[in-house]
Amino acid sequence: MPDKDFNPDLRDIRFVLFEQLPFAKLQALPEYAQLDREQVQMLIDECAKFSGEVIAPLNRPGDREGCHFDHGQVTLPQGYKEAYQAFRENGWIGVTLPEAIGGMGLPRTVGVITAELDIGACCAFALSVGLTHAATALLAEYGTDEMKRVYVPKLASGEWQGTMCLTEPGAGSAVGDIKTIAKPDGDTWLLSGTKCFITAGEHDMTPNHVHLVLARTPGAPKGFKGISLFLVPKRRPTADGQPGEPNDVVCAGIEHKMGIKGSPTCTMSFGEDGKCRAWLIGEVGKGLQYMFHMMNEARVGVGIQGLALAAAATQYATAYANERVQGVDVEKMRDLEAPRVLIKEHPDVRRMLLFCKSIVEGSRALLYYTAFCGDMGRSHPDAKERERSMGTLELLTPICKAWVSDRAFEVAAQALQVMGGYGYIGEYPVEQHLRDVKIASIYEGTNGIQALDLLGRKLPMKGGAVFMGFAGELARFAEGQKAHLALGDLAQAFGEEVARWQATTSKLAGMGMSGDQRYPILSATPFLEMTGNVMVAWMLLGQAIVAHDKLQGRYLDQQAMDPAARARLRADDAEARFYANKLETARFFIHHVLPRNRAIAAEIDSGDRSPLNFVV
Ligand SMILES: Cc1cc2nc3c(=O)[nH]c(=O)nc-3n(C[C@H](O)[C@H](O)[C@H](O)COP(=O)(O)OP(=O)(O)OC[C@H]3O[C@@H](n4cnc5c(N)ncnc54)[C@H](O)[C@@H]3O)c2cc1C
Repeated sequence: MPDKDFNPDLRDIRFVLFEQLPFAKLQALPEYAQLDREQVQMLIDECAKFSGEVIAPLNRPGDREGCHFDHGQVTLPQGYKEAYQAFRENGWIGVTLPEAIGGMGLPRTVGVITAELDIGACCAFALSVGLTHAATALLAEYGTDEMKRVYVPKLASGEWQGTMCLTEPGAGSAVGDIKTIAKPDGDTWLLSGTKCFITAGEHDMTPNHVHLVLARTPGAPKGFKGISLFLVPKRRPTADGQPGEPNDVVCAGIEHKMGIKGSPTCTMSFGEDGKCRAWLIGEVGKGLQYMFHMMNEARVGVGIQGLALAAAATQYATAYANERVQGVDVEKMRDLEAPRVLIKEHPDVRRMLLFCKSIVEGSRALLYYTAFCGDMGRSHPDAKERERSMGTLELLTPICKAWVSDRAFEVAAQALQVMGGYGYIGEYPVEQHLRDVKIASIYEGTNGIQALDLLGRKLPMKGGAVFMGFAGELARFAEGQKAHLALGDLAQAFGEEVARWQATTSKLAGMGMSGDQRYPILSATPFLEMTGNVMVAWMLLGQAIVAHDKLQGRYLDQQAMDPAARARLRADDAEARFYANKLETARFFIHHVLPRNRAIAAEIDSGDRSPLNFVV
């Protein structure tokens, strides 16, 4: 195993950012005119170093120790507080926050990379940081001048913790059913209610917490339109911005749970003594609108969680497969004297490793591309380009969240399988990755809710024009690459799957329009998987095309003209190997994972309604 616990794939990160994505387009945005490739590279290297040296050592001990609860006080695992202090001092909280409020002012495309590195090092630690970042961005956009003056600097610097309080015992997916109430009282509001499952709702890492709480107002209409958003500090700030008197906000307990054990999941009680003061953010009745504005980012962030943990698990499994000796080559099974081999020589282990690699690299490309669309959508000077990019961002968001998190769980399970019994026991962290990654399919809207979002809200956007424009782009890409000398067969297979996916989409949309809602909804989750498979195949084929050209260049540079010389170069030269592996990765995904879409299409075409008919 590598000496270091954390060994992120910086080569692949660089490949996606600088060789696959049009990085120059980011630099062409007026907002990022100063963006320098070398500096971004240095920042990523620095972040990886910090994550490896400061955050990663928290991961395993924090999982074993967990959080402690005592009379409303939550203590985080040993070392968290000190690491957080160093994290803050190095400015990692505000990578994408504007410089005007103390951030680094970098694009989201870079922000997702630093997030991947933080989360991969220790997911439980990184969660509280991500929430503070999200709360800062929300207040910077929708807060009052006073909130921007008092709270935003404290959050942007990480001095205070931010939280998102939506969930209640009776209102999880159905956020519209919340019961927490805020009543006007002079210039402010008095809030009362209980929120559950609140990440980082209470802990000893910061002296104050800033809760962003969804609540109803008296007489508000039922459902989403009756929900408003409030700022609720744990301690009300004094005139000079210090944590002042307590605000009747109490942590009533923390959950014992499957994973992310170093992250406290809190039950928060607001206003038990009728003294919890709240400040309205924006307008009454628009709370969910503000929250949902941040959701796109948060959901891509959950996809990053899936990617980061899947990548970490894959890294361990690969290192293990390079060390563990077991059995003999399959063709020498009867030879009792045959040399013992590394498990990576067994075809089944190779299959599992390439499955993990293809999902990780495809997910990384999809997530970075989605963040890139977000940057274009927010900052491009041309309104049409902004609109097009925003449409793509919205379409891809549920896939980034749900496809990546579901596959990440599969990857972690396969990585564990590669390691056999040693994967299952606590000696290696892969069993922790498997536990830690499961939550990504549940929070920020369960994956079932993401599937409904894709089918019910994203496909019909602009009368289906966003989807059709995007699907057309994929079909043209496939058509354009069919003549590729080395990869034309993959482009052909990909094009056929794009057509199958388009036909399935039309079928479901047609059923919906003819009044049959139940069947399309029953098919929503398989349809999301099908869509994600197409998107990731697109990404990996795009990578293979780039890698093919680079590999040919490498062969020419090194005068490797015949197959034997090329094989030698791939064995000796890490860059040649990297590019050659990209071709195999795309080939694997298109031949071994993308064909799942044939089964999904058959499932949807069957018209079978048994889940709707059986008695539960
Ligand atoms: C560790 C952890 C941290 C969390 N952090 C936070 C936080 O910081 N802030 C916060 O506000 N919340 C947080 N949550 C809550 C989380 O967002 C909810 O658990 C999630 O939204 C699901 O709600 P639920 O648990 O009530 O499940 P339910 O809504 O009861 O869902 C149960 C099942 O029913 C399905 N389902 C429900 N409704 C529908 C529907 N209409 N159509 C199809 N399927 C449906 C779901 O997909 C799911 O499979 C956290 C939860 C956990 C476990």
